[in-house]
Amino acid sequence: MQNLQIDAQRLWDTLMETAKFGATPKGGICRLTLSDFDRQVRDWFKSRCEALGCTVTVDEMGSMFARRPGKNDKLPPIAMGSHLDTQPTGGKFDGVLGVLGALEAMRTLHETGYETNSPIEIVNWTNEEGSRYAPAMLASGVFAGVFTPEFAYSRTDRDGKTFGEELQRIGYKGPEKAGTRKFGAMFELHIEQGPILEDEGRMIGVVQGVQGMRWYEVTVTGQEAHTGATPMRLRKNALLGAARLIERIDAIALEHAPDAVGAVAAAMSFRARYFSPSISAIRTTMFSTSWRRNCGRHWPRPCSHCSSVTKKGVSGIRRPSNSRRS
Ligand SMILES: [Zn+2]
Repeated sequence: MQNLQIDAQRLWDTLMETAKFGATPKGGICRLTLSDFDRQVRDWFKSRCEALGCTVTVDEMGSMFARRPGKNDKLPPIAMGSHLDTQPTGGKFDGVLGVLGALEAMRTLHETGYETNSPIEIVNWTNEEGSRYAPAMLASGVFAGVFTPEFAYSRTDRDGKTFGEELQRIGYKGPEKAGTRKFGAMFELHIEQGPILEDEGRMIGVVQGVQGMRWYEVTVTGQEAHTGATPMRLRKNALLGAARLIERIDAIALEHAPDAVGAVAAAMSFRARYFSPSISAIRTTMFSTSWRRNCGRHWPRPCSHCSSVTKKGVSGIRRPSNSRRS
């Protein structure tokens, strides 16, 4: 059998070409499923497949199947593919390599006039990422019978737009019932999402499984209280509670190393009173805190007794205990 060779440069060029649909300033892609950018890359993909003589079929979930007939067209096709949607801060290769790598293989077959025994199909699954519509792998899930189409259509994004509406809007709700077509085999080429292959100097690996995932959205509620007047033992600081939770999440994952992973993905901003950018503000807080603690009778103006206590208190705070000992 003839050993066919793909054109690596052409594959690279198509990766770079499609990266413009939803390109981000730092060199990545934000091409959320069923967005206008998703429609553009789908149109691009469809036209390139049709240029090779493939028939492109779209199912009711918007998943695309580009078919090249085989010598025996009654055999179930060999499918290859992945997804063209990306995370909001996605890279150029995640999913895209699987679809465009398949396209490159198809182009090579076409150019060499190679006839395969079974038909060959390239698949572009809708919403594999799940970042706009949870859960991930939604359309392939419907294809596999894990979810119903109604469940998929009713998923909403953050703006309240449903999957069904958006699929219709971009014109990719096809007539074929999801899951009716059968594959003889399915290949998915995918970049490694982690750093292990590179770290171990390996070129390629085989996926043995997918990690089970649980997502939690946690709100930690504290109790507002006057910063200066509420003693430490009575404080209910939400951020401190969150910090302890985060620390524990990390520890639990480490207890189950190397396979378990725990991450807290959130954008947080906070203001810590004692770490005010102005030094004088820090001093003021410390002075008043010590003063009130030590001599509540004379508030709001410190007497000479209060001032001396305050100064002692502040110097005590500022000097580390071990330096006093040495
Ligand atoms: Zn992917």
